[in-house]
Amino acid sequence: NYLRISPFSSFLFSLAPWIPVVGLEIHAQISSNSKLFSGSQVQFAAPPNSLVSFFDASLPGTLPVLNRRCVEAAVMTGLALNCSINKKSLFDRKHYFYADLPAGYQITQQRVPIAVNGSLSYSLCIDNKMSQMVTKTVRIKQIQLEQDSGKSLHDDTRCQTLVDLNRAGVGLMEVVMEPDMCCGEEAAAAVRELQLILQTLGSSQAVMAEGQLRVDANVSVHHPGEPYGVRTEVKNINSIRFLAKAVDYEIQRQIEELENGGTILNETRAFDSKLGCTVPMRDKEGKQDYRFMPEPNLPPLILYDTKSLPANVNHQQVINIDWIQERLPDLPSVKREKLVEQYGILPEHSFTLLNEDGLAEFFESVVKQTQMKPKKVIGWILNDLLSYLKQHSLTVKERSV
Ligand code: ADP
Ligand code: MG
Repeated sequence: NYLRISPFSSFLFSLAPWIPVVGLEIHAQISSNSKLFSGSQVQFAAPPNSLVSFFDASLPGTLPVLNRRCVEAAVMTGLALNCSINKKSLFDRKHYFYADLPAGYQITQQRVPIAVNGSLSYSLCIDNKMSQMVTKTVRIKQIQLEQDSGKSLHDDTRCQTLVDLNRAGVGLMEVVMEPDMCCGEEAAAAVRELQLILQTLGSSQAVMAEGQLRVDANVSVHHPGEPYGVRTEVKNINSIRFLAKAVDYEIQRQIEELENGGTILNETRAFDSKLGCTVPMRDKEGKQDYRFMPEPNLPPLILYDTKSLPANVNHQQVINIDWIQERLPDLPSVKREKLVEQYGILPEHSFTLLNEDGLAEFFESVVKQTQMKPKKVIGWILNDLLSYLKQHSLTVKERSV
C-alpha cells in the first residue's frame, strides 16, 4: 500500500518500501457522579462554571480526596485489557501553565501507574465486502489515572478567552498503547473495540463527539531493518472515521516529505477535518519541561487482592482486585463468540450486532418471539431495519417496532 518509487534513486533502491508505525494515547473520561478528587458533579453541557468546587478552582488550603469509583473504573478497565494491576501506584504533579488549569499542574500517575502490560485484540475487514476479517493485537503499555483540565473558549470577535472549569478535575484514564499498528484502519478498529469495552464495563461513556474519548495518534515511518523514524503526534481527532483519515494522511505526508529529501520534526500537529489534513500546532512547539514531582497531598494508592487482604478489614475502605475481576461483565469479544455459537450466524454478523447499542438484544428477542431462523432475522436486520433506522436518523433503542 505504501510502496513509493522515488524518481531520484537508482532502480537498485527503488523498491525500498516504507513501514508506517502508529501508537495511540487515549484519554477516556471516567463515568462517575463526581470528580476524581472532589465532590463536584460531573455532567456534560451544564451551564459554564456551575460544577466547580473550591478544590477544582485551586483555592489555597483545599486538598484532594480520591474518589473510590474512579479507582474501581480504572481497575475494571485494566483487567478487561489484560493488564497487571499495581497494588501500589503513585500520584505525581505535571506542571504546565494554561488558563484552564488553575493549579498550574495536573495530578497524574507518571512514575507508577495503576495498570501496566496489557493487550487489546481487535478485528478488521481486509476486503471491501466485509466478509474476511483478521484479528490483531496491540499491547497496552499502561493505564494511568489523572485529572482533566477545564476548557478555554476563544471568542475571536471580542478577542478574549473564556474559561469554563466544569471539566476541571474530572477523572480520566489515559490508555497508552505500544506502537504496534500500521495504518488508519487498524487504529480505528482498535479504538472502536476499546470504546465498546469501556461502554460494556460502564467505566466511560466513551462518546468521542462529547469529548469523553480523546485519541492522540503518534505516527512515524521507516525502511525495513532500520530503526523507527521520528514521530509526530496528531491531536484534534474527534471521530473514529477522522482517526483513520488523520493517520493515513500523516503517513502519506511523512513519506512524501522524506522522499523529497526533507526531514520529519518531532512535533504536535492538529487534524483539520474540513481540509482532511494535519497542520502544525503552533503553541506546542519546542520541548516542554513538565517538572514532574510527587504529589505531596496524596498517599500511595494501595489495592488488595483476596490473598493480601488484611483480616478484619472494613470492606468499604479497601478495593479488592479479585472481587472486581469476578464481577466483570462479558466483554464484546465473548458476546460475539456466544452469538456465533448459539445462533450459528457468521462472525462478521456478530460484529454488526454489537456495533449498535441494543441491537444484539433486539436480535435475540426477535428470534425468541418469532421463532424465525436466526439467519433470516439477520438478513432482515441488515437489509431492512438498519437502512430504515439510518434513513430516519433513529437508533435501535428509539425504534417503535
Ligand atoms: P514518551 O516517553 O516520549 O511519551 P512513549 O514511549 O510514552 O514516549 O510513547 C508515547 C506514545 O507514542 C505511545 O502511544 C507510543 O506507542 C507512541 N510511539 C512511540 N514511538 C513511536 C514511533 N516511532 N512511531 C509511532 N508511535 C510511537
Ligand atoms: Mg508517554
